[in-house]
This record gives sequence, structure tokens and C-alpha cells, in this order.
Amino acid sequence: MTTQTAATTWPEGAIGRYLTVGGATVDITHDNPGPDAEPSLSTAFCTGCGKHMDHYWATYVGRYDNGRTGAEWAAREWAQTHAGHCRALPKPTA
Ligand SMILES: [Zn+2]
Repeated sequence: MTTQTAATTWPEGAIGRYLTVGGATVDITHDNPGPDAEPSLSTAFCTGCGKHMDHYWATYVGRYDNGRTGAEWAAREWAQTHAGHCRALPKPTA
């Protein structure tokens, strides 16, 4: 099993990473699914099984930051839970 360390390079734009029990990672990023330049969604993506969960900021509007904090929190919650039981291995890169 590969040992993940803090020195492991994070993907560009990642704001959070969770190590799964299978040795993959769930990466949290902010994304921009629409034509506007500003990100409007927080997404959690599992590099092991490919599952992902999108949390649109608009769902969490009503806060000072246009929903960003709420969406990020929800993405982190999903990542934490998924990392705790996903046993899919990351696909070899070589
Ligand atoms: Zn997974």
C-alpha cells in the first residue's frame, strides 16, 4: 500500500484531500460549470472509483459569501464519509 504524505503533490485547484481506506484520495475543488468566470460549485471527486458529488453554491445562498462556505462544508462532509468506506484502488498512471 502506498503511503500518502503531506508532501504528495495536490492536483491544481484542490482545496482539500481525503485519503480513502483503499488508498485513493477524494479531492475537493471549486469549479465553474457555467459560462461565467466565477466558480459556483464545490465538488468532491474520488480518484479511486470515480464517484463525485457536486454542491452548487446557489443551494446554500443566504450567507455573506454567496453560498461558498456551505457548499464547501457539504463537499467535505461527503468526502469524509466516502473516504471512510471506499475501497477502490486508484488507477495506475504508468
Ligand atoms: Zn470512491
